[in-house]
Amino acid sequence: MAKTQSFKYAACLTCSILVNLLSINLFLHRGGWEKSWTRNAVEEAEAVASISCSGHGRAFLDGVILHGKPVCECNQCYGGTDCSQLSPNCVVDADSGDPTFLEPYWVKHAASSSIMVAGWHRMSYEFNDGSLISEELNSHIRKVHAAVGNANTEGKYIIFGAGATQLLHAATHALSFNIDGTSSPSKVVASTPYYPVYKEQTEFFKSEDYKFSGDTSVWNDTDIDSSATSFIEFVTSPNNPDGQLKKAILQGPSVKTVHDLAYYWPHYTPIPAPADEDVMIFTLSKLTGHAGSRFGWALIKDEAVYKRMLTYMDLSTYGVSRETQLRVLKLFKVALEGNGREMYDFGYNTMRNRWNRFSKSLSKSKRFSIQQLNPQLCSFSQQVKAPTPAFVWLKCEREEDSDCFEVLKSFNITGRAGNLFGAESRYVRLSFVKTEDDFELLLERIKKLVSKESESEVEGSSSPILGESKENRKSNESMEVLDPSYYINGLKHLIEEVGLHLVDEQKVPLYSIIEKLIGFT
Ligand code: PMP
Repeated sequence: MAKTQSFKYAACLTCSILVNLLSINLFLHRGGWEKSWTRNAVEEAEAVASISCSGHGRAFLDGVILHGKPVCECNQCYGGTDCSQLSPNCVVDADSGDPTFLEPYWVKHAASSSIMVAGWHRMSYEFNDGSLISEELNSHIRKVHAAVGNANTEGKYIIFGAGATQLLHAATHALSFNIDGTSSPSKVVASTPYYPVYKEQTEFFKSEDYKFSGDTSVWNDTDIDSSATSFIEFVTSPNNPDGQLKKAILQGPSVKTVHDLAYYWPHYTPIPAPADEDVMIFTLSKLTGHAGSRFGWALIKDEAVYKRMLTYMDLSTYGVSRETQLRVLKLFKVALEGNGREMYDFGYNTMRNRWNRFSKSLSKSKRFSIQQLNPQLCSFSQQVKAPTPAFVWLKCEREEDSDCFEVLKSFNITGRAGNLFGAESRYVRLSFVKTEDDFELLLERIKKLVSKESESEVEGSSSPILGESKENRKSNESMEVLDPSYYINGLKHLIEEVGLHLVDEQKVPLYSIIEKLIGFT
């Protein structure tokens, strides 16, 4: 009897557990989860993120699907379904300024930087107030500049563009505006070596209002004063390709200046002071690395110029995609998180490491030299820092190496030829902002090139390098002394800082100079 009773209890308990499990299941799949419309999206995103591609590639949600799974998109020179196979003799592409060096930072911050875009997110042409820009994003851009101290945004109008590329042309349009239609086209100029897009864009759009007119230095004060035309000078600071901090050269009432400050961030340069120019253009590409989001912004002082740029935006694209604006807002929130330094520290440390290793590997070369840049006090880090630009501006020193692009190409390295920047073809630009794999391959190739150079020197040690002139050899000898000048310049500057300290103790505290002297390598 007792046995039957306990059997009944057990049966009841089992039934009750089954009913409960069934109800929970029904609740999860029909009722409660219905509100969690994000679940599928989350699962899809997590599944793609879990594909490792051997650390030499990445799978994306919108990538090609094979056997129900997105395929790995491998870094250059890597292949195979999981990107594990390296092709040792592949062509190393150091051409593009694709800033993927920041990818590891965003992988680390995957949780805080992800967004979920609902199917109904901002479907309208306009925001509720009729504008095309997110006010929240506008205020975050100003916060980012205030945190870094690289631009004064107070009293400035702001315009968003599909990358700085669109804004460069909008600015040219706005500044060449010809009220009576009778003046001659504005002359668009930039200092050599200049970012090629200024020339390419101006020539491509063939406007009656402006004309590309070459290197700034060709035009002197008399031209400016006597000329019936106006000038638009592009100032890129730090400069692409050579990383120099630049100032406007042309002055006068007929001169308008566009400051392209794409690289004026602590990853690439010390920030001496906030920029406060009439037209300043920035891009997300070089700040966070999200070149594919196509987002840039312009800070404009003058209302009339702002309105003309706005008309350009309205008639070309009617604003920037709202999905992009949402994503950029999220990225800026992450950049401002904590003490607001982590992204810049990551960017700067990565670039500094690359510069140190690259300069060291070239230090014995007489065949190649690189640009020399002076360290400066950075107001963001409160340290004297050597610039760590996005590009190496490499010069082929041998007389017979007049086409440096071809010299590197014969060693399976693709750079960007100097003549595209209005400079001699003895120069080549090499990109330092690509992935770690890209950089390692480039470094390895350059080391081989330099070691070949030493081998050939040992072989013909008593005779000059084939085709090398006496004069060139002399300058190369001094190059050998100059090459470690990346560091020597740094020390010189620090010594100057010590002098400065003695004069003005408030400016640079002595302990920080000593710290830097110890740590400067
Ligand atoms: N200005 C400079 C100096 C650049 O180097 C670049 C990108 N290479 C741009 C503008 C354009 O940037 P974006 O990707 O925003 O179009």
